[in-house]
Formats: sequence, C-alpha cells, structure tokens
Amino acid sequence: MTLATDSTIDRNQQLFDRARQVIPGGVNSPVRAFKAVGGTPRFIQRAQGAYFWDANGKRYIDYIGSWGPMILGHGHPAVVEAVQKAVLEGFSFGAPTEREVELAEAILERVPSMDMVRLVSSGTEAGMSAIRLARGATGRSKILKFEGCYHGHADALLVKAGSGLATFGNPTSAGVPPEVVQHTLVLEYNNIQQLEEAFALHGKELACLMIEPIAGNMNFVRASVPFMRRCRELCTQYGALFVFDEVMTGLRVALGSAQSVYARSIPGFEPDMTVLGKVIGGGMPLAAFGGKRAVMEQLAPLGPVYQAGTLSGNPVATACGLATLKEIGKPGFYEELGRKAQLLISGLQGAADKAGVDFCGDSEGGMFGFFLFKELPQNYAKVMTTDNARFNTLFHGLLDRGVYIAPALYEAGFMSAAHTDADIAETAAAAADVFKLLSK
Ligand SMILES: *Cc1c(COP(=O)(O)O)cnc(C)c1O
Repeated sequence: MTLATDSTIDRNQQLFDRARQVIPGGVNSPVRAFKAVGGTPRFIQRAQGAYFWDANGKRYIDYIGSWGPMILGHGHPAVVEAVQKAVLEGFSFGAPTEREVELAEAILERVPSMDMVRLVSSGTEAGMSAIRLARGATGRSKILKFEGCYHGHADALLVKAGSGLATFGNPTSAGVPPEVVQHTLVLEYNNIQQLEEAFALHGKELACLMIEPIAGNMNFVRASVPFMRRCRELCTQYGALFVFDEVMTGLRVALGSAQSVYARSIPGFEPDMTVLGKVIGGGMPLAAFGGKRAVMEQLAPLGPVYQAGTLSGNPVATACGLATLKEIGKPGFYEELGRKAQLLISGLQGAADKAGVDFCGDSEGGMFGFFLFKELPQNYAKVMTTDNARFNTLFHGLLDRGVYIAPALYEAGFMSAAHTDADIAETAAAAADVFKLLSK
C-alpha cells in the first residue's frame, strides 16, 4: 500500500483522527488543534530552513518557527552539528556540566540587567519560579499582571480581571481554585491611570509586576514608552520587583532583548528580573529566569526559596542553545532579520491597500504582528474585536497557498534568518490573492 503517494488520502486528517483517540484533542498544546480557525491541523513531517512539510508532503513557508525558537530557521548546520556532538556525549547526567556555565555566561553577556540566571526546561516553569522567587525575596504575596499577557500556565497566572481594582482576579481555567488567584491583580495593558490607582491601593503588598514588554500573546502589542516608564517608577517607589517576561521577545526582537529596545527611549532602563525561553533553547526544551545577585541568592541551595529540575540545564538542550546564541551574535544579524520582518509587513500592507482591506502591522527584530484594523490596538480588549471569520478566511487562504501563519488571531509571527526576500514576495503574492476575497 502506498498511502503517502495517493493524493486522494489526506494523511493529516488520518493522523488527526488517530491522535484524537489517544491524546486529548489530538494535540499536546491546545492552539495546535486549529480550534479557533477550523479545519484539519497539519501534522509536520520535517522542516528545513524557512519551510516545513506536512504529512501529505505539502510545503509551507513557516512563520511560526515553533512559536519563536527557530530564529535561525530549521536545521541550521552549526546547530545540528553541536546537537549531534552533544548527543554522543550523553543525554542527561543529573550533575553539573561546563556547558551550563557557558550558556549562563552567554545569556548574561547578552542581557546584562541580570547578574545570575537559573536554567529550567520551559517558559511556564521559568515564570512560575520567578514569581515564587519574587515573593520569597520581598516577603509579599500579591502579584500584578496585564490582560492579554501570557506567562505560562502556572495556576496563579491563569486569571482574568475581577470586577474592579479592589477585587483580585478570577480563574480562567477549571481546576484553579479561586483562592489560588486571590493574590493576582489583573490590569489593562497600556493604561497608566489604572496602573497608578492599583499601586496606590496595593503597591506596598506587591511582590512583583510581571509584563510581556512587547506582548506577543495578543498578536503584537507594544507597551508604550510612557507606560513602561511609569511601571518602572512605581515598582521602584513601592519596592515591588519589575519582572520582564521575555520568553518570546528575549533575543528575538534584539540581541539584548526587549529591555534593550526600551533602554533606547528610557536611559538606564532595566527590569529587576527577566524570564527567558524559546530562542535561548534554539528549539530544545530550555528556559531561564534571572536577576540581581541579591535576589537570585535567595534560591536554593543558597537561600530559602525552593526550585529544582531533573532535566534542568540538559546537556543536549544547552548545546543547542549555545550554538544558536553563537550564530545570532554575529554582526548584522538583527538588522537583516528586522529588515525582512519590515519587508513582510510592508508587502502585506501593500496587498491589503490594493484590495481596499483594513490592515495594519508592526514588527521589532524578528517578531511581527498584523491586524485587520486601520490602527494598531493598544490592549487585549481591542485585539479581541477582530472579526474572526475574516481572520479565518485569511488564515486558510494563506495555508492553502503554502504560507503557514499562527492559527489564531492573538498570536505573533516570527521571521527567521533562513527566510529569503523571494519567500517574502511569495507570501505577499499569496496574501494579495486572499485579500481580494476579503474585499468582497
Ligand atoms: C511561550 C511563552 C511562555 C510559556 O513558555 P512555555 O515554554 O510554553 O511554557 C511564557 N511567557 C511568554 C511571554 C511566552 O511567549
């Protein structure tokens, strides 16, 4: 039987049917199921450079890059070589290695607001640990976050705004008891007045304020410079730690991460703690959190805040991360990545304008986002006014034409070093076709 060559058989659908028998929803992370956009998820068979191929052998230009990590594109030779070498030396030891030290040094060199860093295996774990550390270091319980920012799926962070500033959050997931989120306050992103009111009410009880500086989990929304400045001032004034969740933006929007982008407008700007993931693992399970020495020394085994991991600092993952960091540190890397992201957004804008479709987009380094709006939104509520049906037409139109963007309107997009100007032109041409459908 030659299933794969029979074009009447949809291998993606076959695999999805099989997967749903044994994995809830057929996927190991919900967005992969295409629930928001409908249709059959593509089961990816292999990837190279800017492309991946699904189970039917169809090629796509990949703009999700594993949701950010694949900044060099897939299968970069130097990274593959480093991983192959590491695998031969051993998968995991449960004892320290030189490579962990090298990776920690490499991260601190690029993100100098941190004096020390601890390596973990996922962004969720890093964010959860950062909050425990912030609470342990300040002796305070309350935390503040913003609507539309995602910091992983730790219980205390699966929360939406309560009915006013005096009330704390409500769980957004079953299985999270209300008591667990009673210390989490949720505010509107980019709303300075609300921020000031919240600090006036709760500032002295806040362990930390956690933010996605350029929010990539509500598509692409920048924190405004005045808003960021005010966050920094209020945290300093009230003794709350300012935690930058740069799991997505870290070493993605710039080598120095989003904090270096804000430091261009706010001289001397630094967060107190930083959470990293995605790019620093280059596609392997690796994340990190770090900050000033006095705070980081509160962690076990030095201090009273417990945190641990069997596979933390895994030797294969650190090899992958180190090789990735080495490549992205080469001169001109981010200029070229940023140029291509801008080229894509302007190509899409041109195609939309021609078809008379409302469109706007933005990018920073290798991260981008676009909306079927005239103007860039400033907060989650506005992002979520996107017309779902129109977004889905755009998504499936592009997918049919071999362009894979995030299957949800609230996710960012990612450019890699492997994308060529020809790939971008092909994407803009596909979009021009699809925008014609949307203009009717
Ligand atoms: C992806 C992401 C996380 C969670 O990381 P995982 O590795 O998926 O657990 C946390 N914060 C932000 C900003 C992210 O983009």
